[in-house]
Formats: sequence, C-alpha cells, structure tokens
Amino acid sequence: MAAFGTVFMPEMIISWFDGNGWSNAEVVSSDSLQLHPGAHVLHYSSTCFEGLKAFRHADGSIKIFRMDRNIERFAQSSELLALPELDKAATEKMILDIVAQFKNDVPEAPGSMYIRPTHIGTEPAIGKAASPSLTSCQYILLSPVGDYFSGGDTTLRLLLEENGARCAAHMGMIKSGGNYASAMRPIMKAKAELNADQVLFCPDGDVQETGAANFLLIDGNEVITKALDESFLHGVTRDSILTIARDLGMDVQERQLTVDELLERAAKPGCEAALSGTAAVLTSVGTLIHNGKEHTVGNGGVGQTTLKLRQALNDIQWGKAEDKFGWLTSI
Ligand code: PLP
Repeated sequence: MAAFGTVFMPEMIISWFDGNGWSNAEVVSSDSLQLHPGAHVLHYSSTCFEGLKAFRHADGSIKIFRMDRNIERFAQSSELLALPELDKAATEKMILDIVAQFKNDVPEAPGSMYIRPTHIGTEPAIGKAASPSLTSCQYILLSPVGDYFSGGDTTLRLLLEENGARCAAHMGMIKSGGNYASAMRPIMKAKAELNADQVLFCPDGDVQETGAANFLLIDGNEVITKALDESFLHGVTRDSILTIARDLGMDVQERQLTVDELLERAAKPGCEAALSGTAAVLTSVGTLIHNGKEHTVGNGGVGQTTLKLRQALNDIQWGKAEDKFGWLTSI
C-alpha cells in the first residue's frame, strides 16, 4: 500500500485572494502550482492547512466528518497567521464540490478520502519579514487513504520530552507548517536513538501533544487530557472521542496532566494511553520512555477501552451507528 498522503486525485480546487476579494473557485490539475519564488509563504511560512476525511457508507453515500469544525480551525489559523480572511462559506462549497467531483474514488471502508485544504501567502515580497502577505491562495487536495491500522495490534513507543517544546507556545493552536518544521529534529533524534515512534512534548512536565496527534490517558473509567489553551492543537478527533466517552458515561477530565502523574498511573495494570488524530484515529501507546527508562503502559498491549472508543467513532463515520451528534455532511 502506498504511504499515507502520497497518492493524489488528479485535480484540485483553487481560489485566489488578490488583495480585495476571492476569485471564483476553479478545478485545475493538482500536479503543479505556479508561485513567484519570492512568495511570502516560501520565506516567512505564511501557511496553514487542515486535514479531514470523507467516508463511503454501505449504501454508497459519501459523508464528510465534522467539516464545520475543520473550517472553523482553518479560518482561525489563517487569522492568527495574519493571512487574508477566509470566506468560510466559499471554503465549504469548495470542499463539497471537489469531493463530489471525485466521489467515485472515495475508498470503501476501512479506507477514506483525506481532504487537505491549504492556505498560503502568495505576495511576491521578500522584504515582508514583519508584515503580512496581502494576497493569498487556498486550494483543496484529495488523497485516498487505506487502513492506517494494517499493523494490527502493535502499540506506539513515545519519548517524553520535558526540555523542549513542539513549537512556540503562542503558535500551538495554529495548524501551520512551521510548527511541524520546528518539531522535526527532536522527532528524528528520538526515532534514531531510541526507536521511538513519536515524541510526546511535555514542556516543564506538562503533558501536551505529539508531533501530529493529541494524547489521552485512559485509566479505568477516567479519560484525562490537557485542557484547551493556545499552546497545542485543538484536535477534532480529541473532541469527538471525549464527546463519545462522556456519552458512554466515562469521567472525562480536561485538565493539566503532569509527567509524574502520567508515569504513576501508567504503571497500573489496566491503564491505557492513546494518540488521537484524523490520520491516527485512536492509536494505543504501549511504552513511555523517560530519562532513559522505559515504562510500560498497563500491560503494554492495545487497550480495550481504546479499541471500544475507536470503534464507536469509526461506526459513526461509516454510518454503522446513528450520527447522534450531527457530525456528518452529505455530498
Ligand atoms: N496535534 C497536532 C500537532 C496535529 O498535527 C494533529 C493533526 O492531525 C492533531 C493534534 C489532531 O488533530 P485532529 O484530530 O483534528 O486531526
């Protein structure tokens, strides 16, 4: 199977902001994009993006999961990066139009169509290190993806990093390329030296998130995860899993979780930990590496509650359970 995100539909939908207004959206080839080499995004990282999915139900219908949330976050990222303001209704129409165009290519379960809206500053101006791009462009790529869990019941190994942060604290809730660039070296180092899958950033002992997913501790009936603040990404999957957990009667705690509490709880039999994200859905964490020591989470295997929550989310996404929270949009 091709690596996640390496196969693209041949066309994308694009709209340009010329300083005054957005152009009508156009469907164009997705294999290239013409930009001035001095474009603001290429020098000063005026870029943000989103990741959401469309699912094929057994009756053949296509549904997009929590599109409103992703568009809200996209607009918020654009605003916090001082990019031109998005027209949310136009973005929604672009998503619906391009997914409709390729609806026959949306894979069957357990696959899905990953949708990648992107917004970049296009102004050719290399002297604007401290001022925003007045022009921009947004486009939406589609990438069919398979089952992320073909690995079966393997669990992840995470390095707990207390001395570094994923990105600057005021940038965390922005889904912007620079944040991923900032986390790249620590993640590469953890992979090479410790065979870790990811780094769980815990600046000053505060358990935050990994390079591309949120972190949840599941201890019996309790689900514990960091309360929302501007330092990390407000995952749509995080919110969905917490909503499902509350609905199942679990005790959801959005609060500070320290490394000390995490390690103490993780050592208990039956304790579980997981990463949540659009790509990862909900993936079990089996090992935490901290100060050179390996700590097994619970029994180190895939957690039963993690599986149950993941299944409940997947069942809504694929129409096997009622869409009781109104999360699906029909194409
Ligand atoms: N945190 C980071 C840094 C991410 O890149 C992502 C993206 O997938 C998430 C968390 C999870 O967000 P979501 O559940 O909206 O995909």
